[in-house]
Order: sequence, then structure tokens, then C-alpha cells
Amino acid sequence: MTTKKPGVNTICTHTGEVKDTQFGGVISPIYMTTSYPFMDVDVKRYPRYFNTPNQKAVADKIAALEHAEAGMVFGSGMAAISTTLFAFLSHGDHIVLANEIYGGTFNLIVEEFDKMGIEYSFTEGIEVNHFEEKIQSNTKIIYLETPSNPLLSITDVEGVARLAKSQGIMTMIDNTFASPINQTPLDLGIDVSIHSATKYLGGHSDISAGAVASSEKNMDIIWNKAKNLGGHLNDFIAYLLERSIKTLGVRVDRHNSNAQYIAEYLDIHKAVEKVYYPGLESHHNHEIAKKQMHGYGGMLSFELKSDYNAVTFQNNLKLIKPSMSLAGVESTILLPSLTSHGLLTAEQRMEIGISDNLLRFSVGIEDVNDIIADIELGLKIN
Ligand code: PLP
Repeated sequence: MTTKKPGVNTICTHTGEVKDTQFGGVISPIYMTTSYPFMDVDVKRYPRYFNTPNQKAVADKIAALEHAEAGMVFGSGMAAISTTLFAFLSHGDHIVLANEIYGGTFNLIVEEFDKMGIEYSFTEGIEVNHFEEKIQSNTKIIYLETPSNPLLSITDVEGVARLAKSQGIMTMIDNTFASPINQTPLDLGIDVSIHSATKYLGGHSDISAGAVASSEKNMDIIWNKAKNLGGHLNDFIAYLLERSIKTLGVRVDRHNSNAQYIAEYLDIHKAVEKVYYPGLESHHNHEIAKKQMHGYGGMLSFELKSDYNAVTFQNNLKLIKPSMSLAGVESTILLPSLTSHGLLTAEQRMEIGISDNLLRFSVGIEDVNDIIADIELGLKIN
């Protein structure tokens, strides 16, 4: 008999859960112990071995969502990213990275890799040929991020995976912005999918975590590095992450529909110069996004016309909070020119399309009319 694969929301709600054999409760119990038996056991459990019941529960759920054989959870997105990169790169190897990647990942590369004798190149664009241009004979990994931050650029994931495979190169993606609800990169040929679970997977702006999903074989290699680096997730936070992911599907559906509505609203607004959202037909790679994403996500950016001031706009908002992080149930906004790209000169920022009036908007799950009313409030007293 073949059993039908569960749907995505059933995976979110149930996959991986720890059975409460003592009392029959419906929720995974929390096991906070750091000390497990070592005699006559199949698995030697220890938090830094990434195999406690609560770590395993949430890792299995994330693996199922990513259509992967196995998964692991970490104490932060950067712990997941650094451990995974260091697991596969050694002295003398080379990595090609997309030019639009998260600032923390960029810092990790430029501050640590030279010391370790690992070579790297950043692409000069986000199209497949830009990745191809940077491949060398010692290239081991191609690393990409799509949709990107803050301009929501879209890279053809299948195209990059095909290119890499043809040359025996491994591929890794930071899938944070999409979430596994909107994008399942392993289905597109990517080898390893990584998340800052602090974002959509956590979803409530109250936990720090990271996650990786891949084949059993790759996860064994990552595990060997991870137990040496020690960036594991605490069991209580693992429990909270499992709890959060139960509603991931319904949350992301709402993020998607709110963001699409707001993007279309802003796109024809007289105060707005440009909207960056992959769900808009005007987006430069909308057709690729349509092909590879199941939904367009809750992140969008928009630029106000020059007779408006983005700082004043942001300060006048009542519902939408100015905030550095993203992907919570609440709407938050930031100015890349004052945060992630604050160290660049105005000219350098303009060169990469980040004007002083650009706002990055993490659209929450509030009623969309309330979000629109807040945007109008910000613009009225500008
Ligand atoms: N990747 C992306 C796309 C991010 O936005 C972030 C954090 O903002 C990270 C990775 C790093 O995650 P963490 O802050 O959980 O270490």
C-alpha cells in the first residue's frame, strides 16, 4: 500500500513531533537534560551532538518542509551558515558567492576566509552567466540568496544548479527570505538549503535559530564540523521553534497575500518612485520567480519620490515599527541607507540601486487595510 505524502500544513503541524508516552499530551514535551545514558543505547545523545529529542523534532520537520533527507538546527542563522561553509571548504578551495547576500555572511567571508586560505569571488550580477564568469578550476561551492536583500532580486535557481552540476560544483542557498513554504530549492537541484530561523521559521521576533537541510551524506559532513564548532540550539528554543513552525504555512500565506496587495497598491501610488516585489509583473525576473516560487513572500522594498522624506515617513508610522530584523507577524520597516548599507557612501549606494529614500518593508499578518492606513498616515504628514 502506498501512503499519500502529507500536505505542507500537515507537515508544519505534525512532522517530527515527540510523542508524550508518559501522559499522552498532544504536544512534544520539552527535554532539557544535557545528560543521557551511554550504555546499551543506539544513539548517544548530547545537545552539542545536535540529537536531543527537541532538536531532532524540529530538524525533522524542517527537513520534511525542504524536501530533504535530513536537517539540523543551530543557535543562529550565522552558526548554520558558517558551520556549513567550513564543513565543505578547506585551504586552497574557492567559492563563488552572489553579490547580493546578507551582510553578516559577507562579513564572515571577507573577515575570515583569507586567514584560512580559502579563495572567494563575488558575482557582478545575479543572472546565471554572472556565476559562470567567476568559476575557477578550484571552485568547490556556488552560494546564492534569492530573493535577495534589500532589492528582492531573483536568481534562476535551476539555472545555477544546472551550471554547477555540469562542473561538479556544490550549491548552497540562503532560503531565509522565501521560507520553505514559498521555495523548495532542493527540488530545483540545489544541494544545501540554509535558513536564519530567527526569521519566518520562528516568525514571532522572539527566538534566534538557524537551520540546514540536505542529503544524509552532506548532513553527516556538516554534523562532523558542527560538533566541533558547537553552535547548537538550546532545547527550550528548539521547542519554541517547533511550536512556531506549526503555523508557518498559514502565516506565510497571509504574509504573501498582504505583501502582494500592498505591492500593487504602492506600485500605482503617486508618492512612490519604484516598488521591488517579485510578485509584480513589472519585476525584472517575475517570470523566473513565477516558475520557481510557490508564493512571492512577505518582503518588499519601495522608494519614495524625492519630494518625500523616508525618515519622516518612517517616524510618523504608528502601526509599522522601525526595526532591524524581519519576518515577524508584525509589520516592520527599515532604511537600508542608515542600516545594512550605512557604511557605503551615497554614490556607492546609488550605484547598487539603494537610494536614501528606499524602505525595506517586512509585511506582517495584520489586516491589510490597517497597514495601508498606516502607510497613508506616514505619507500625509511627510
Ligand atoms: N540570512 C539572512 C537572509 C538574514 O537576513 C540573516 C539575518 O538577518 C541571516 C542569514 C543571519 O541570521 P541570524 O541573525 O539568525 O544569525
